[in-house]
Amino acid sequence: MPELPEVETVCRGLQQTIAGKQIKAVIVRETRLRKPVMSEKLYRLLPGKNLQRIERRAKYIVMHLSDSVIVLAHLGMSGQIVVQPADEQYRKHDHIIANLSEGLQMRFHDPRRFGLFEALTVEEFEKHPRLQHLGLEPLDKGTDAEQTWSHVRQSKKPIKNLLMDASFIVGVGNIYASEALFFAGVHPQKIAGKMSKKKWQELLQQVKTVLAKAIAQGGTTLNDFVNSQGESGYFQLELAVYGRENQTCKTCAKPIKRIVQSGRSSFYCPGCQRI
Ligand SMILES: [Zn+2]
Repeated sequence: MPELPEVETVCRGLQQTIAGKQIKAVIVRETRLRKPVMSEKLYRLLPGKNLQRIERRAKYIVMHLSDSVIVLAHLGMSGQIVVQPADEQYRKHDHIIANLSEGLQMRFHDPRRFGLFEALTVEEFEKHPRLQHLGLEPLDKGTDAEQTWSHVRQSKKPIKNLLMDASFIVGVGNIYASEALFFAGVHPQKIAGKMSKKKWQELLQQVKTVLAKAIAQGGTTLNDFVNSQGESGYFQLELAVYGRENQTCKTCAKPIKRIVQSGRSSFYCPGCQRI
């Protein structure tokens, strides 16, 4: 499943490749995504509009078009947005096609069809139910220990659950949460409100670092973004604890443990992460 760093990379790639281009026409080849595609609205709102700016919000791709039109997309489990020459053959699962200026096409490709691709007015975008309860962006400069501490200190949740609570902070997936906790030396079951502010500051910094590293690695695939079939691949982070049950900790050589929290695996080092 595409995580925040991959979505960020997709957005940067789209910004580089299609910002400034015009949408000439739209072709919907498959409407059966998780939420049915509203083809008529895509046909009505998109042709003739210019792509101005592409940005990420949580794991959503937000394309700002001229005349206050917005395309909201989500990659779901297996989605891709690929930009390629218009004369390339369609692949199976190329569900939505936008013909762009300069002979390019943007294709929304999604084998498992859990994704989302819709055209909205700016008013609809601002009231969109899927965007209303999203928490802070972890990479925003303003998301710091000062801004978040009052929430953290009152939380009775285990810290890992709090990190993965998208109504508090978005896009910190299971792998990134486990890794950041290890680097900050925080046990995943530590009650959030029982941490010191200094420890929280350290942990939040590790969250930012882990995500930024993944984006930096994804950035190296940016050049392939247009030419390849859009298979940017999942970022191969060198993982310290995630997926390493019973292997030795690279810091203290104790065996890494796995526990289950809220149905998700947490990996930690009992030597480096004391509760
Ligand atoms: Zn250790």
